[in-house]
Amino acid sequence: MTLNRRSFLKRSFLCCLSMGAMSELFSSSPQAGETGDRKAMFFKKVEGNLLQCELCFRRCLIPEGQRGFCRVRENQKGELRSLVYGRPVGLQIDPIELEPMYHMVPGHKNLCVYTASCNFRCKHCHNWSISQSAPEQIRSLKFTPKEIVEETLKQGCQSISHSINEPTIFFEMMYDVVRTAKGRGLLTLCHTNGGIARTPMIELLKFLDGVTVDLKSFNPKFYQDISEAKLEPVLETLKTIRESGKHLEIVNLIIPTLNDDLDDIRKMSRWIVKHLGRETPVHFTRFSPQYKMTHLPPTPVKTLEGAMEIAKSEGMKYVYVGNVVGHPANSTYCPKCGKKLIERTHFIMLKNHVKNGCCPSCNEKIPGIWS
Ligand code: SF4
Repeated sequence: MTLNRRSFLKRSFLCCLSMGAMSELFSSSPQAGETGDRKAMFFKKVEGNLLQCELCFRRCLIPEGQRGFCRVRENQKGELRSLVYGRPVGLQIDPIELEPMYHMVPGHKNLCVYTASCNFRCKHCHNWSISQSAPEQIRSLKFTPKEIVEETLKQGCQSISHSINEPTIFFEMMYDVVRTAKGRGLLTLCHTNGGIARTPMIELLKFLDGVTVDLKSFNPKFYQDISEAKLEPVLETLKTIRESGKHLEIVNLIIPTLNDDLDDIRKMSRWIVKHLGRETPVHFTRFSPQYKMTHLPPTPVKTLEGAMEIAKSEGMKYVYVGNVVGHPANSTYCPKCGKKLIERTHFIMLKNHVKNGCCPSCNEKIPGIWS
């Protein structure tokens, strides 16, 4: 059975905001230049009113009155502005495992923030109706970063994540949310495609506890052909996160015929072990036909298991199979003695035996944040 994040949300919608309350918070569709927008943090003037955005690897050159590739950053009279500041498309309450983030206080409630659009164009995107829409094509809410943090606390969540669409493109809002959230004792996360530039990533990491990164393939051609993006900046972002010491988990969505080459998965595994360490949790997740990829079948479970075996044979200690409900590799096992430490079925945590960050049987230290 395949259940991705979107279908999971449809089935078990945990958002505690009532739709009555939500309707009062909906904004009209923002138009260029008249949104509750905010000056961007990372850009420079090139000449005249031509600007260069320095937020992600694209480094768009943006003439006056135009937007960058991500559709949400606009040159307004020589100043770059974010059109989605304070305009989330949704706030959703999920189990933290849905990020996926398996090594961070298992089973707790997390509030996820997202906006319209993205800086990638993945043909297989599970959240394409959100990520491939410009802000004026989709209804949004009105929430300041402070209000998002207050809502998170009110709903009894222990963390805030920025996910579903690419959070880089709403950097200013995410930055203000995580800074405020840290002052209120919340855990902070982002789930990114890794295309962010190094300087903003370093700034953001000061206020993040954990990051989930999509490593979509180890083949640059996949990034170019399927996502209109590049592999190299993603690898640099992964190294930057590792240098920071913050908790990191990696997701590799395996799509039949496109990125299921086991030699590439071996190369990816070796790179992770060498540059990020064998203790980095990695999730091999199942593709389900979506968006422009409805002609492809769901990933065979055997392919995911083959990837898992390769990663383990290269020395990786925490390897998961995702989007396959009830698979034994939904759970966490001690790499030293083999004890089942955290029992899960899909994104639901059933039992957690980790004690003080260690295996209760052999005292092996388990990487992550446990309290
Ligand atoms: S964040 Fe948007 S505007 Fe800035 S470089 Fe990336 S795609 Fe271009």
